[in-house]
Amino acid sequence: MPQRSLSDIVSCVSDYDPEAMTVPQAQQIIHDYVQPIASVERVAIRSALDRTLAADITSTIDVPANDNSAMDGYALRSADIVAGETLVLRIVGSVHAGQQFDGGVAAGECVRIMTGAAMPADCDTVVPQEFTEGRTADTVAIPAGSSISPIRPGDNRRLRGEDLRNGQVALRAGKILRPADIGLLASLGVVEVSVQRRLRVAFFSTGDELRSVGEPLDPGCVYDSNRYTLYGMLTRLGCEIIDMGVVKDDPVAMEAAFRSACEHADAVITSGGVSVGVADYTKQTMTKLGDMLFWKIGMRPGRPMAFGRIASQGRGAYLFGLPGNPVAVMVSFYFFVRDALLRMMGATASPLPRLHATSLSAIRKKPGRTEYQRGILAADSDGEWKVKLTGAQGSGILRSMSDANCIIVLDDAQGDIAAGDKVRVVLFDGLT
Ligand code: AMP
Ligand code: MG
Repeated sequence: MPQRSLSDIVSCVSDYDPEAMTVPQAQQIIHDYVQPIASVERVAIRSALDRTLAADITSTIDVPANDNSAMDGYALRSADIVAGETLVLRIVGSVHAGQQFDGGVAAGECVRIMTGAAMPADCDTVVPQEFTEGRTADTVAIPAGSSISPIRPGDNRRLRGEDLRNGQVALRAGKILRPADIGLLASLGVVEVSVQRRLRVAFFSTGDELRSVGEPLDPGCVYDSNRYTLYGMLTRLGCEIIDMGVVKDDPVAMEAAFRSACEHADAVITSGGVSVGVADYTKQTMTKLGDMLFWKIGMRPGRPMAFGRIASQGRGAYLFGLPGNPVAVMVSFYFFVRDALLRMMGATASPLPRLHATSLSAIRKKPGRTEYQRGILAADSDGEWKVKLTGAQGSGILRSMSDANCIIVLDDAQGDIAAGDKVRVVLFDGLT
């Protein structure tokens, strides 16, 4: 349950005005209000991919466990090296990966060694095979010729524990585990880890005009696309989804849907019906079931938004009431909901990657609100990032999101952009 009430959090925000919220204010309130779900399960490391690690992982071994060779070649004592002179060493043994050479190696001696094999105790350096010549059955010559770099003590030796030391924290709680992380867990011999259980997110679309795919499109109707973009974004974020379909603009149906959603999910996302149209019943239903704020955020697209917590039958969920327009849904998700869901997952979330790029398009922009323009970002032949608009930017034009690989974020103070100006872009393509 939240530790602080929404009104407590809101009272700390200076200039709070639900009719004119700034983007950073709304982001801050959401961030301060949502709490991690803190429910943990043990899973095999493969199943932990894309999940949030729930406890630190401390290595119980040194990785690698021995000093070992980084090359196929000869292990030698660096004290034998004399600068500028060819070194002829007697081969006293051979060691493969997975083996240990137990014998001694005296001055003037060496051991043939394969990549990954443990270093003989007396040796500290490996000379790669391709740097040697004049090999006989039991000697090898290492020329000091200028075509090869001189051998320095410690060359081509990987040190015990250089990847991770016994007792060192390998992965911190809160990390969303990526392929490298589950590989790292395997390298430590870890079989299972504790992860946060998947976040359950219920969503539905509201609107009498909405038809689901597979249904005929009646006059004046549109197909419901928001449930599909939400499905995609939530799935990429690793959520367990509960798709509740389309709910009519009807207070009874609406209440039943909100109740069911918050009884079964950690978070509920709705689209449509949060503005002031005559059929916008979501507001009254949300208020009836919980602690809700209704905002007009100084942004485009996506101005109206509801946020809070609703409850039914003693079970509660955070609620994000997004606007209906398809682009507004996606923008609101990336810039408000995503961070909140990651926080609920217990993830130490990194913000979406952002960079500066030169705008190839002139962009009209009114100061006083944040605008999210859909952009296509590409590097030019000099490797400089250039971004252009996708074309028509209406909040109902989902095509503009489909064509885009980034969002150009123009913050409140920004005025018109001339072609050639630098702009800030946030990437979403290919990311969670
Ligand atoms: P609303 O916020 O309910 O007034 O909806 C704003 C606009 O978004 C209207 O043109 C709706 O038809 C459209 N819209 C609402 N929900 C969806 C949806 N799920 N899929 C596609 N368009 C929608
Ligand atoms: Mg509607």
